[in-house]
Amino acid sequence: MIETKDIKAYGTQAADALLDQLNISRRKPTAHDVEIEIRYCGVCHSDLHTARNEWHGTVYPCVPGHEIVGTVVSVGDHVHKFKVGDTVGVGCMVDSCRECQYCQEGLEQYCEPGMTGTYGSPDKYLGTQTYGGYSESVVVNENYVLSIPENLDLAATAPLLCAGITTYSPLRHWNVGPGKKVGIVGIGGLGHMGIKIAKAMGAHVVAFTTSESKFAEAQRLGADEVVLSKDADQMAAYRGKLHFILDAVSAEHDINAYLSLLRVDGSLALVGAPEQPLPVAAFSVIMGRKSFAGSMIGGIAETQEMLDFCGKHNIVADIEMIDIGQINEAYERLLKGDIKYRFVIDLASLKNNN
Ligand code: NAP
Ligand code: ZN
Ligand code: ZN
Repeated sequence: MIETKDIKAYGTQAADALLDQLNISRRKPTAHDVEIEIRYCGVCHSDLHTARNEWHGTVYPCVPGHEIVGTVVSVGDHVHKFKVGDTVGVGCMVDSCRECQYCQEGLEQYCEPGMTGTYGSPDKYLGTQTYGGYSESVVVNENYVLSIPENLDLAATAPLLCAGITTYSPLRHWNVGPGKKVGIVGIGGLGHMGIKIAKAMGAHVVAFTTSESKFAEAQRLGADEVVLSKDADQMAAYRGKLHFILDAVSAEHDINAYLSLLRVDGSLALVGAPEQPLPVAAFSVIMGRKSFAGSMIGGIAETQEMLDFCGKHNIVADIEMIDIGQINEAYERLLKGDIKYRFVIDLASLKNNN
C-alpha cells in the first residue's frame, strides 16, 4: 500500500470548463523516487490541446504541465542520482517500460507498451491518472529526472523540458549543422527554441511566421532570414532551397507550401500537432524524393544532452511569467499567438493561494 499526500494543483474538470484550483494526491517517495517542489512550469500548447480535449481521450480532472523545474525536497532510500536541495527538471515523461528495444536505446518516448506521460497517463502506482506540473510538487522515479545547468535562469529554463527537447531532437536526428539551410515554421514556444538551437548548431536558419510583429524581431532570436508566410512572393523565393524544415505550427496550415521549399531529398519534420489532419499532395513528395516525417519530444539521455548543450551555449526561452490565476487568460492569448514566446507559471502563486 503506497502512502499518499494531498497537494494543491490547478486543472480542469471538462473540455469546456476553465482551469481552477483542486486537490490531488501524490504518492510519498518510494525507494527510487525523487520528490520535487515545483518552482516554475512552462505552458505548452499541448496543455491547451489536452485540457480542451482537442486530441480526444482526455480524462478529467486534467492537471496539465510538463515543463517543470524545481528543488528536490526528499528522496527515496535507494536514490543515487539526486539529493535534497538539487535543482532538477521533469519533462513530458515520468516513466516507461525500461525493457523494450526503444527504452534500451534511449528512445523512451517511443516505448512499445507506451511511455507514462507527465499528465494524462495511467498512474502505475496509484491507479489514477498522472497529474502534471500546474501543482505544488511532483514525485518521479530518479531515472526520469534531469539535472539543470547552474548558469541558466531557472524560470526561463523550464520551457527547455518540452519546447527545447522537441526541437533539439529532430534537429539532431536530421543532422542540422554547418552548411545546412533550415526552415523553422511557426515562431511560438517550440519554434523560437528551434531557431535558437538550430543557430547554435551552426545552421543557416530561415524563420517562417504569419505574425508581422515577430517578423520584425525573429533575427534577434538568431534567424538569418525571416519570411512572412502569408506573402506568396516571399515564399516563392525559397522554392527548392531548404535542406530541412521543422514545422511547429499548432493549427491547420498548408504543408504542401512548405514541402515545395525543400531541396531534392530534403525532409520536413512535423512537431506541431493540430487537431485536424493535414493533407499532403502526392506530387509534393514525389517531385524531389522528399520526406514528410514527424518527431515526438526526445529520450531522457538526449534531454540531458540538450540541457547541457543549452547550458554551454547560454540558451533559454524568452518568457512571460504569470501567476497560476492567470492561466485561463494565458490560454486565450496563446491561441491568438499573443506571447513572446512562452508563458511560465510561478508556482509560488499557487502555494500562496488559499
Ligand atoms: P505556440 O506557442 O502556440 O506556437 C504555435 C505557433 O504556430 C504560433 O506561435 C504561430 O506562429 C503558429 N500558428 C498558430 N496558428 C496558426 C495558423 N492558424 N496558421 C499558421 N500558423 C499558426 O505552441 P507550441 O507550444 O510551440 O506548440 C506548437 C505545437 O507543437 C502544438 O500543436 C503542440 O501541441 C505541439 N507539440 C508537439 C510536441 C511533440 O513532441 N511533437 C511537443 C510539444 C508541443 P507564428 O505567429 O510565427 O505564425
Ligand atoms: Zn509540451
Ligand atoms: Zn519501453
